Amino acid sequence: MNVRRVLLASPRGYCAGVERAVETVERALEHYGAPVYVRKQIVHNLHVVRDLEARGAIFVDDERDAPRGATVVYSAHGVAPTVHANSAALGHDVIDATCPLVTKVHVQAKRYAANGYTVLLIGHAAHEEVVGTMGEAPDSTILVQDVAEAEALELPADARLAYVTQTTLSVDETGEIIATLRRRFPQIVTIAMSGAYRNSAELPAEARAHGFYAKGAPASNLVATLALLLEGNRAPSV
Ligand code: SF4
Repeated sequence: MNVRRVLLASPRGYCAGVERAVETVERALEHYGAPVYVRKQIVHNLHVVRDLEARGAIFVDDERDAPRGATVVYSAHGVAPTVHANSAALGHDVIDATCPLVTKVHVQAKRYAANGYTVLLIGHAAHEEVVGTMGEAPDSTILVQDVAEAEALELPADARLAYVTQTTLSVDETGEIIATLRRRFPQIVTIAMSGAYRNSAELPAEARAHGFYAKGAPASNLVATLALLLEGNRAPSV
């Protein structure tokens, strides 16, 4: 493929929470020395990951893969309480780089569940943030991944309901699902909404007119969102 021009979407790069988590790993390496274990890929950018590995970071998918007594950094998207329990059992020296906004979502979801609400979590099942948030109140949380699932919910009309969205989702992605929930359950309470990305404003006008390719890691929710957006604009995406 011949690249003729590169257009930059805005905002681009990774979010403040992920940037903070990457800095946390860098500081941990400076302070404690190698190895520092990092739970999950801290950022979906292979260059950054390889650079951290070269400096002594070891990425693991599960905290139980880090040895007893290891220094372990949790990534920005948050973890379920079971992860803390596993690390405690292994005597890990934990540095929790969970984004404060995600922590706020966890606290609120737990609080609403404790007050008798069913929490509807709008997000993607495979995303680590969803796994972490659901882990706070698994018996009171229902995952809603799309409009069809919002329509299919079978709950009493007067159920005490609250919703929260995965923070990495765009406003554009969640709007229709939220509208469906509000139509079906007008009493629903908003706990927290994603507000970080308004994708309709991100595409340069020229790109909208001519189409272009989105480049990035398939595992990144932001890249997946951009690809969807491009398809909506009949632009090719990879
Ligand atoms: S809430 Fe999520 S998307 Fe927003 S800055 Fe934090 S980690 Fe990033």
